[in-house]
Amino acid sequence: MISVVYDDRFLDHDTGLRHPECPERLTAIVSALRSSEFSNDLEWIIPRSASEDELLWIHTRSHIEKVRAVAESGGGYLDADTPICGESYSVALLSAGAWLTGVDETLNRKQNAIVISRPPGHHAESDRAMGFCLFSNAALAAHYAVRQKGISRVAVFDWDAHHGSGTQEILETDERFFYCSMHQYPHYPGTGTAHERGEFDNVLNIPFSGGSNGHDYITSFRTNVKPFIENAHPKLLIISAGFDAARQDPLSSIELEPEDFGALLLECLQFEIPIVIGLEGGYHLETLGKSMTHMIQILHKYTGKENHV
Ligand SMILES: [Zn+2]
Repeated sequence: MISVVYDDRFLDHDTGLRHPECPERLTAIVSALRSSEFSNDLEWIIPRSASEDELLWIHTRSHIEKVRAVAESGGGYLDADTPICGESYSVALLSAGAWLTGVDETLNRKQNAIVISRPPGHHAESDRAMGFCLFSNAALAAHYAVRQKGISRVAVFDWDAHHGSGTQEILETDERFFYCSMHQYPHYPGTGTAHERGEFDNVLNIPFSGGSNGHDYITSFRTNVKPFIENAHPKLLIISAGFDAARQDPLSSIELEPEDFGALLLECLQFEIPIVIGLEGGYHLETLGKSMTHMIQILHKYTGKENHV
């Protein structure tokens, strides 16, 4: 079985009319998975919320209080791209908690976990929200694994089309964490050059120009990502799975096909360590559903029904 961590409450984070980070993203994924040929192999898991104490591992109190205050006032803009509503604070706690539930599923139940949550997290820095992101879900999951689950080293691999500026900022100062990102550059948010290596040489950024395709990604994965992660010897791999590097996606000009995300996941399975996959960006609804389906297909095919990687 594959654990799919999801809750309808994620739809309550209202970003307003025509915002690309919309509830329909999750609806599209959920309906694609429910109608896939693997639907009987999915175990739908209701997530828990992250606590404020857990958020304080990675965020400043002032950041947490600002998000809460803006939500309690009925909503507003945390930055030019990041509108929130009255429900957004509690939904963001649930979204962050869902990634922790994903870690529990993978480590306690030995079941591959896919977290389908919003708001996404990888641009949220220790003291500010940005780029549709309120709290850094992947960085929190990495801390959770180390602080609560006895995992000594954690790698985060981020294939969202944008550099995971927040995840890097939070994790790069701690030698137990490794962060690797493939992304379009130059592009939003402006960070993610190959020169940024982290305080402990624990960061690897691989910038791609617009027009790069699946062949470019897989070639670079084998040449660069694979040795970086193997040398890190992580005991858990967290994948920040954004799907905005898809050819159809309006927010990047990388040209991956839905099958390419499955191919990237297959490369990751070869590390033979527990994996948690969490949703970051991805704004073309049909592509989101197809890409997730391809990933499930790979998990099903290569990890078996009583799976553990
Ligand atoms: Zn993105």
